[in-house]
Amino acid sequence: MLLIECPWCGPRAETEFSCGGEADIVRPVDTDTLTDQQWGDYLFMRKNPRGVHREQWLHAQGCRRWFKAQRDTVSYAFQGYQTFERPLLSLDNSDAQAGNKQEGKAS
Ligand SMILES: [Zn+2]
Repeated sequence: MLLIECPWCGPRAETEFSCGGEADIVRPVDTDTLTDQQWGDYLFMRKNPRGVHREQWLHAQGCRRWFKAQRDTVSYAFQGYQTFERPLLSLDNSDAQAGNKQEGKAS
């Protein structure tokens, strides 16, 4: 079973999550000037890399919050996660502790 680290709830089973696909897709601002090709690319074309990929995940059966994760598509290993309020945090101990210290200062 794959464990996914929810930024708010901690490690949980993969079955509690839904993948929302590729992250960081920006909606075009001026859609009236787009060609059909450009509009189709925005709606349907997604990367499918072999290796590191940034994705959106929903903790559907937990806190029901969205977050972004960086994952290796070959090994399925999650390399870090990012909420919409703070930058990418690595899952190794150094960044996690730094994140906890920052949260401690804020409260
Ligand atoms: Zn959660």
